[in-house]
Formats: sequence, C-alpha cells, structure tokens
Amino acid sequence: MSDIATKINLLGLSQGGLERFFSAHGEKPYRARQVLQWIYQRGIDSFDEMTDLSKSLRALLNSEADIIPLEMQARHDSKDGTVKWLFSSGFGQAVETVFIPEPARGTLCISSQVGCALDCSFCATGAQGFNRNLTSAEIIGQVRHAIRDLPRRENGDSAVTNVVFMGMGEPLANYRNLVPVLELLVSDLSYGLSRRRVTVSTAGIVPQIKKLGKDCNVALAVSLHAPDDELRNELVPINKVHPIAELLDTCWEYAARHSNRFITFEYVMLRDVNDTLAHANHLAALLKNKPAKVNLIPFNPFPGTEYRRSAADTIQQFQGRLQKRGLVATTRRTRGDDIDAACGQLAGKVSDRVTNRLGRKKVGQKSKKAINIRIASA
Ligand code: SAH
Repeated sequence: MSDIATKINLLGLSQGGLERFFSAHGEKPYRARQVLQWIYQRGIDSFDEMTDLSKSLRALLNSEADIIPLEMQARHDSKDGTVKWLFSSGFGQAVETVFIPEPARGTLCISSQVGCALDCSFCATGAQGFNRNLTSAEIIGQVRHAIRDLPRRENGDSAVTNVVFMGMGEPLANYRNLVPVLELLVSDLSYGLSRRRVTVSTAGIVPQIKKLGKDCNVALAVSLHAPDDELRNELVPINKVHPIAELLDTCWEYAARHSNRFITFEYVMLRDVNDTLAHANHLAALLKNKPAKVNLIPFNPFPGTEYRRSAADTIQQFQGRLQKRGLVATTRRTRGDDIDAACGQLAGKVSDRVTNRLGRKKVGQKSKKAINIRIASA
C-alpha cells in the first residue's frame, strides 16, 4: 500500500477522535488540544509549523497523519458581496458553499452531501439525484477554507459568525459525519461558535432530529413548506414517512430540551401552490403558541423547474397574516442570485449514482426510490 493511503487525515476529527489517535500512538491525549488549535484557529496545514510539539512528535505526525484541505475549483463573487465556492469532491463531482455577508454577521451556508436523495420537488439539488455523503473533513473543510479566504471583520473577528447547513444535501441523512463537525464548530479549541449560531436545516428526518436533540444542542430549522400532509407529500416526499403531526411533536420535544429555544420553520413561497391566505391561516394554527418562527423563502427558479415564485405582495400578505395570528415571521432576502448562489440553486456537479433521476421526464416528479433509501439509512 502506498504511504499516502495509510495516513490518517486529521481534518474532521473531533477532539475525542484526535485523542484516540494520539493514545493509539502512545502519546498523551492532551496533544489533541494543541493540534486542534493549530489546524482550526491558526489554519496551519503542515506539522512542521506546529512549534509547540516536540520534534519526535512532529516526525510521528508526518509519517502517520496528514491535513488534507478541500480542493477549490472556482470562486464567484456576487455584486451584493455574496461569495460562492465550488469544491471538488473527486471523480468529477463538486459541491458548493456560500458566504452571505450582512452588517451584523457573516453566514456561511455549507453542503453535507454530493446531491440529495430526498427529492423535494422545488429544489435544484434534489433534481440532480444523490451521489454520496461528504466526509467530516469535507464538511468542516468548507468552513476552514472560507475563513482563510475571507478578510476578517472590522472588529478583528472571523468573517464567518454563523454556519447553516442549508447548502447541498440533507445533513441528518449524513448523521455520523455531521456530529464531529458540529463539535468542531462549537468547541473553544477550534471555531468556538455559540450553539445558537450553528443551524442544522432538515426536511424532517424524525429519528435523527430526536438523536440530535440528545447529542448536540444546536439550532434547528425545519423545511415545512406546506401546512397539510397532502400538499407536503408532493413538495417534500419524506413527509410520507414522517408526516406533519409526528414531525411537529418531535420539534416541540427538541425545543423543550433547550429551554424552549425557537425552531425556525422554512416555507418556500411557490406561486399558486402553497401561498394563499388559507395556507397562512392553516400554518398559523399549527404553530400558534409554540416556540416557532417562520422564515418565508421566495422560490428561486432553476433550469427545468415548472414552479414560479409568488408575487412580492402575496409574500407580504402571507407574512402579515402569520404576524396577525401571533407568529414571528420573516422573509428571507434573496442574495447572490446573479451567481446562482441563492437557496435551492446550489447544484455543484453531481452524477446521480443512486436515485436514477436522469431518466425522469420532468423535475418535480415523485420518486419512491428516494424515500426507500432514506428509510434504509434512518
Ligand atoms: N436538506 C435541508 C437543507 C436544504 S437547503 C433541508 O431540507 O432543510 C435549505 C432550504 O432551502 C430548505 O428549506 C429548502 O427547502 C430550501 N430550498 C430548496 N430549494 C429551493 C428553491 N428553489 N428556492 C427557495 N428555497 C429552496
């Protein structure tokens, strides 16, 4: 076997994972703390630069380990300041990451899978099918790359103040690789983000929401998109497995664990599909008096889709109705659409290995196979 193949990539190992690595090599576990700081806080790729490690330890690391960053293929800068990177995930595949600067914060939107198996009918990533899960190294690598590539904020802080899993893929369908990344994002030895500033967004994989509640206390966003099962089955097919009542019960349990911290419900505004005042009333009834806020997302079109964005005044009226019924409701401002970086436009380069969507006639057709895949790995 070649030398490279036997080395361990330390990128993506949580503190626990690094401690196990050092113990297995007869070293003190606290070395993990030093190495975490070098890799994430100082952004170092070479063991020789880790000057507080002994020469013999550096030699050991050079022979047994590696720090392999993600390979960037392209960077696009929007006129509104949004930045999008395309990262290679091997074999001609690529995933996308988006940075959205705002006056008070900088949000990095990261990908968790190459493609997505869930097949939400209005999503560009879903339309491409599924190739594979990203590794923890590839997921945290997006954050590390962005932080090194972007200038610091005026106050000297990192440009990235918030991380959201709203890029390509369903993070809870890649649970094993997600958890070490969440640990790295919040650990004081690496990025030290507050748990409220790390948001996992899910189409509603109930068993994994329950697990996440126990394993990692981060903010949760749920892609609801419809107030009734019939419509949600069409838009978010995983609803056939975990319908709205079950999903919402799980959300309230999640919120209760964390002193009733609010859960964000995402709701894509699709013209003449889910955007009437009757839908708004129904949605308000579902979420009233619960720790919920609603984030309306104007639909972002992509090639091949038959959906259209709701008119601006429809969105405004919908939001107004939710507010009148006592909900906190906001509308997401569309950013970076000149570089195809807006919500749901991330497509990267995915060759579908699993869900066989290429043979399908139109985007939005339902796929039973995708749902079966989810059940198998849930
Ligand atoms: N799999 C995760 C992350 C998806 S992307 C999830 O389902 O939550 C983040 C958000 O963008 C989700 O709410 C998703 O439904 C929404 N979205 C997908 N396609 C969109 C589009 N074309 N326009 C607007 N929002 C879209």
